Amino acid sequence: MKIVLATSNGDKVKEIKEFYKEFEIYALSEVLEPFYIDETGKSFKQNALIKSRAVYEKICQKGLENEFISLSDDSGISLPILNGEPGIYSARYSLDLVTKPTDKTNRQKLISKIKALNLKSSPAFYTACIAVSSKFGDFTTHGFMYGDAITQERGKNGFGYDFMFIPKGFDKTISELDIETKLKLSHRSKALELMRYILKTIV
Ligand code: IMP
Repeated sequence: MKIVLATSNGDKVKEIKEFYKEFEIYALSEVLEPFYIDETGKSFKQNALIKSRAVYEKICQKGLENEFISLSDDSGISLPILNGEPGIYSARYSLDLVTKPTDKTNRQKLISKIKALNLKSSPAFYTACIAVSSKFGDFTTHGFMYGDAITQERGKNGFGYDFMFIPKGFDKTISELDIETKLKLSHRSKALELMRYILKTIV
């Protein structure tokens, strides 16, 4: 059984492929025509399942359910001091400020929110929910990474909020660390590690 990633986020595809070297993994565009998925869920888990089920439905329509399963990731960063913002809205956090939010505009909004509280940093955590949809059913796992969100952007690696996130026990942002270190620490890796047990039995 092969895995289709239910995401068009190239950075996530790269990290998942890097982590799951033992599985045969395909980007969405390699197997299906692009299509829009409305993330209407109220939690990472609901949104991850919306994505994995939507892609699995297309797999079934093509009669490929004995060949492929789908795997999605829904993730984001939360700041307790901001009542959990941006949370599930991490990718579209600056939608009230710009018509097409980017990682850069989202970080700028988060930085100004922290600065507005007269802080230079604040505790933060990433959440990732990995969902799998397959002929054996749906499965989900979660992973977390704790640390601090800072009001500066530092480093070159990674994506999203990595430039302003210092993981617990480090003095560098994720973007200043190498990809191998991120793969050991990250919310996504922790959720993927748990999902590995399920994948081993169904793939
Ligand atoms: P999603 O594609 O709807 O799950 O949105 C995920 C958003 O959360 C991304 O656009 C990033 O802004 C943020 N995010 C999730 N995981 C990471 C990560 O590992 N590093 C940096 N930002 C992340």
